[in-house]
Amino acid sequence: MVFDRDGYIWIDSGSRPTPIAISKTQAPKPRPADDELQFGTVFTDHMFLMDYTEGKGWHDPRVAPYQPFSLDPATAVLHYAQAVFDGLKAFRGSDGTVRLFRAAKHIERLNNSCERLCIPRLDPELVLQSFHSLVSLDKAWVPAKRGTALYMRPTVIAAEPFLGVRPAKTYIYFLILSPVGSYYAEGINPVRILATDTYVRAVKGGTGAAKTAGNYAASIFAAEEAKKQGYTQVLWLDAVEHKYLDEVGTMNIMVKIGDEVITPPLSGSILAGVTRDSILTLCRDWGLTVSERPISIDEVIAAAADGTLAEFWGTGTAAVVSPIGELGYKGHKIVINGGKTGPLTQKLYDAIVSIQYGEAADPHGWTTALPAARLTKTAAG
Ligand SMILES: *Cc1c(COP(=O)(O)O)cnc(C)c1O
Repeated sequence: MVFDRDGYIWIDSGSRPTPIAISKTQAPKPRPADDELQFGTVFTDHMFLMDYTEGKGWHDPRVAPYQPFSLDPATAVLHYAQAVFDGLKAFRGSDGTVRLFRAAKHIERLNNSCERLCIPRLDPELVLQSFHSLVSLDKAWVPAKRGTALYMRPTVIAAEPFLGVRPAKTYIYFLILSPVGSYYAEGINPVRILATDTYVRAVKGGTGAAKTAGNYAASIFAAEEAKKQGYTQVLWLDAVEHKYLDEVGTMNIMVKIGDEVITPPLSGSILAGVTRDSILTLCRDWGLTVSERPISIDEVIAAAADGTLAEFWGTGTAAVVSPIGELGYKGHKIVINGGKTGPLTQKLYDAIVSIQYGEAADPHGWTTALPAARLTKTAAG
C-alpha cells in the first residue's frame, strides 16, 4: 500500500479491516446552511477512489480531496456507457448520531448492477468501508435539519481507453457525497404525472433492473415532453403492451385500490427499489393486504371510475414517497384523493423518516450508526 503525502490511514473497526490511505484537502470549502441545500448541487471536501485492473482485481482504496477526473477521450464509459451507480443517504439524528439507511441492501444492488453491465463485482465489505471512511471524514457535512441528509453516490465506470464494444479491462469505483435539502419544503406535495403510451423505459431482458447510466439518458426525452404538458413525471408502462404500470420517473410505483396495496413485481424491467422494499415491509408489518402483481392502467382508470382508487404514490431514496395527485392518460385527467396526500402515504413517510433519524424503533435493523473508526497518522507521513 502506498501512502499519500499526508500519511493518514483509516482503519475500520469491522471484521476485515483494510487500511485506507487518506489524503486530506488543503482547501476545505464553506458548507451551505441547512436551509439553502438543494439536491445534488454541492459536494463535500473529499471523495473515495479505488481502481480495478484485470489480473489484479480491485486495488488502492483511498480517500482524496474532491477533484475532477482526467480521462482519455477514448475512455470506454464516455462512448458505451459501461457505468453503474447507486444512491443512498446518511442522516444526522436528533441525538447527533449519523446513521446510514440500508447500506448493505444498496451495496448488494450495486453489485447486481455491476453483474448486468459486465463490471467486476466489488467486495461488499470494502464498499461499506468506503461509506464509513468517507462519511466519517466529511461528517461535519451531514446536515442536521429534519428533512435534510447526506446523499451518497457510489459509482463504477469503465476506465480503459479503447473504441470497441466489449467489457473494459480497467475500472474506477468512486464515491461522492452531497448534502441535500428537504425534498418537501412545507409537507409532502402531490405531483402530476403523465402515462406515456409512446415512449418506453425498459423491456424485459434489457437493463431496466440495473441502475446504469444509459437508462437515464434514454428517459430524458419523454420526461421533457411530459414537462411541456405541465406534468412533473412520466408514468412508464410496459414496453410490450403499453398497458401495465412499470415505474414513475426514477421511482417505483404503488397504488392503493380499496384495501389492497399493489405494486408491479420485480420481473426484469423495473428497479428493485430499497424504498419499495422498506414500504412493502412496513405495510405487511401493519397487516395490510400487499400484492406484488402486474397492474394495468385500465385497472387504475376503472378504480378511479368506481371510487375505489384511494391513493397513488412513487417511492425512492430522494423523496421517500411522492404522492400522485393527478394522472394524465390519452387526454384524460384523473384526480386522486382530491389531489391531496393520502393518509397511508403520509403514514409511510412519517414512519420511514422517524426510523432514518433514529427517533423510532428500528425492528428490521435498517439503520447503522457510523462505527468508531480510527484515523491514524502513519510513520510514512
Ligand atoms: C433509484 C431508482 C428507484 C428507487 O430506488 P430506491 O432504492 O428506493 O432509491 C426506482 N426506480 C429507478 C429507475 C431508480 O433509478
